[in-house]
Amino acid sequence: MAFLEVKGIEKSFGTVKVLKKIDFSLEKGEVIAIIGPSGSGKTTLLRCLNFLERPDKGSIIVNNEVIFDAMDPSTQRESEVRKKRLHFGLVFQNFNLFPQYTVLKNVTLAAELLAKERPDYKQNKKAILKEIQDRGKMLLSQVGLSDKLDCYPHMISGGQQQRVAIARALALDPDILCFDEPTSALDPELTGEVLKVIKGLAERNTTMIIVTHEMDFARDVANRVIFMDAGVIVEQGSPQEVFGNPKEERTRQFLARYK
Ligand code: ADP
Repeated sequence: MAFLEVKGIEKSFGTVKVLKKIDFSLEKGEVIAIIGPSGSGKTTLLRCLNFLERPDKGSIIVNNEVIFDAMDPSTQRESEVRKKRLHFGLVFQNFNLFPQYTVLKNVTLAAELLAKERPDYKQNKKAILKEIQDRGKMLLSQVGLSDKLDCYPHMISGGQQQRVAIARALALDPDILCFDEPTSALDPELTGEVLKVIKGLAERNTTMIIVTHEMDFARDVANRVIFMDAGVIVEQGSPQEVFGNPKEERTRQFLARYK
């Protein structure tokens, strides 16, 4: 069984079926790029994986653990979902940083809240918080922002904000890091610095699912490419297959727009 197995995911909003029988798998250390026209269901799929939407049908299995099964209510209890959500990290299109907190606090906040639930928290509070701070600083150094720890989001560029968001998503050490069009809200001159950070993560074998319109980037970093249209996976394969020799007419038409 693959590290991530997504089986038969379906999702409707009202009467509109936005995801129809989505099946794919992902090995540890692999990168999947999801491409496709606007409205094809890419964001909804990422939101389902991150428990921000509840699929109507299907199951999600990570590392042999069923983390969601639409047929099994026991996988959907709030206490369970909170834990299972930690398997995935999500970087949003619009960064979604907390404006009232510094860069470092944005990265450490979730870990600090989570640490309060540790049985040894009261006893070891100082050491635990120091460890979280150190990890936050290490992650911010990894995305090239060691000199911005005390800045507030409005004081840094969009590209820097998105790099903070990446560090924040890494802070809880997710098994799978998801990106929803991470550069589409950025000016072209800021896109490169964010893509470079993501490429660095890929080189360190971070397991990732990246929704993107950056076709050259997808071809460069992805092990596998999924083309979605109208709620279905039309085609999936290696970048060479999907970009170099697409099987489906719909894929060819879509890619022709980027030539
Ligand atoms: P993509 O990311 O490929 O652009 P989305 O997943 O954002 O596609 O959207 C797929 C479809 O689902 C669109 O038609 C969109 O309008 C619809 N949709 C997304 N979220 C909601 C929602 N919360 N309520 C109703 N419709 C939604």
